[in-house]
This record gives sequence, structure tokens and C-alpha cells, in this order.
Amino acid sequence: MDRRILVAFSLLAACACGESSAHSARKDSTVAPPISGNASGEVAPTAGSAAPNLQGRIPVLEYHVIGGDKNAEYTRTVASYRADLEEAYKQGYRPINISQMLDKNFSDVPAGMAPVVFVFDDASDSQFRYIEQNGKLVIDPTSAVGIWLDFAKTHPGWKNRAVFCMLNGGAAGHNFFGDSPKWNGQKKEWRFQKVKWLADNGFELCDHTLWHAMLNKYSDAVVQEQIARNAMGIDSAVPGYKIRTMALPYGIWPKNKQLAWQGSWTDPKTKQTHNYKFEAVLEVAGGPARSPYDPAFNPKSINRIQAVGDDIRRQLDKLAQSNTRFVAK
Ligand SMILES: [Zn+2]
Repeated sequence: MDRRILVAFSLLAACACGESSAHSARKDSTVAPPISGNASGEVAPTAGSAAPNLQGRIPVLEYHVIGGDKNAEYTRTVASYRADLEEAYKQGYRPINISQMLDKNFSDVPAGMAPVVFVFDDASDSQFRYIEQNGKLVIDPTSAVGIWLDFAKTHPGWKNRAVFCMLNGGAAGHNFFGDSPKWNGQKKEWRFQKVKWLADNGFELCDHTLWHAMLNKYSDAVVQEQIARNAMGIDSAVPGYKIRTMALPYGIWPKNKQLAWQGSWTDPKTKQTHNYKFEAVLEVAGGPARSPYDPAFNPKSINRIQAVGDDIRRQLDKLAQSNTRFVAK
């Protein structure tokens, strides 16, 4: 096994340490004050009935592995993930992509309702798996995408809008949702097919580096190689796809900050130069994100809420009770 992959694997396995402290230190620091004229202390607005609040906060939720027997920092059980979807729906949220946030495009959110962004990091097969059923290839109903599609069937207005921040060279299946079960006795992973399916079906593709590199540890050249080569992988799966969003592994910035969103890498073999330029950079924590209508909105630093314990529920309740959430008009 390539040494880098081994390194990546150990980084992924150790993923908990860095993010945990960042999370606890920052999660409540950026909740917006109540918007004037709207701070009546009402409880959760019911779907469609709230006054517009275009400068309110938008929860951007962050998931890793979906599955397992119990919740952990990087694992959300199927039951908890389903409950999160249900809770968001019940509170009048409708999903959008980060690219829609950038474009101030809230057309998927009916008036009086609120946008939410679901983000899936690290491209594990728990998020997107195919299985064989009666000789056919179908999306595993227990994978994050399968659960999403199922949920949408019974919840009108729940569209295919979520962001997948992918690695294409991580270990242990963290490579465009690899490690699917065998097909006709052969190990087939349909990696590019999955990435393309997501793009073709309304979801957004996001760069999360080649193998989850801790970007502050590397030279400018390696930082750009990590980001550019992952973008090249996405382009191989979906030729011409314009990546607009990147997520920082562990929420850690490179020493030269702007390389997170703009840079280039020249392939030493082909001498070809590959450029990248993104509009949005996702942090790993920080609480509900600012609206693109908020004058302080910084698309190069969009905060997220990690799917840990009951944090999502708590943050959604808090946004509702304080009337600080974004409400579409
Ligand atoms: Zn990650």
C-alpha cells in the first residue's frame, strides 16, 4: 500500500482529536442576536407562517459515516440520521446546496420556511453504496443517499440538495465512496458512476483534498497538489463540472490561507498545469452559518454544525426560539 494512503488512513482514524476541541471551543460563539422587530420570543415558527428574515442564520449540518450501533463523533447511526431529517422537516426546513446559498437562490424554500444545508464529508461507502437486488444494481436503502431518497418520497418538497465533500485517494473506502460489496463475484465500486449520479441528480460536489491532508503541515506546493488532484478526480468523473465549494480537512487552514480556494498544480509527468478556484470554504464547526444577505457573510469561511450527540436538535431549537433563523420570503 502506498505510504501516503497509510498516512491518510491513520489521519482518518485519528480524525477525532483536532476537530473535537475546535468544535467545543467554537460551537456557540456565533449565534446571531435576535433580529429587531422579530424578537417576540415566539416558539418555533410553523411551516409557512413565519415572517421573512433574509439575514437570519442557516444551519449547515456536517455528517461523516452513517451507520454503526451507536453515535460517535464521526459516526451517526441510521436511526439518528433519519431522526435529524424528520426534525428538520418538522421545523419547516427545506434543503439547499451551498452553491444556492452563494447565488442567493432560495427558490427551493417556500415563503415562511427555512433553508438547511446537509454536508457529507470524506466520501465513505456508508454515504453512497450500491447493492445487488434481483440481478439489478440499486442504491442501498441503508446508505445516506438511499435513506435520503426514501425520506423524500414521503416528505413533499424535500429535494435532492446536499453537498458531498469528497476525497478520491483516502484509505478504507474513503475514495469516492469505494469498498462496495462484490458484484458477480468481482469487486466493483462504481466510484465515478456514484459521483456522476450525485451531480446529475441535484446534489453538489465539493473538494475535500486528495486524502484528507492536514493542510498546515505541508508546503504550498503540496497543499495545491492535494486540492488540485482531487478536483481533477472530480473532473474525471464528471467532465467540466464546476466545483464551487471546498471543505477544510479537520477545519485546518493551510499556512498560505488563500491556497484553500485558489491555486494550481503542474503534473511533473505531463507538464500540464491544473488550476482551481472555489467560491466557498467550509469550516468544521462554529454554529449556524451567516446568510448571504448578512453584510458580514464571508463565503470563504462558512461555519457548520457537526452531527454529534443532540447538537443539531439543540441548535435548531435555539434558532427557532430566538427567531434568528433565515426565513424565506
Ligand atoms: Zn473530513
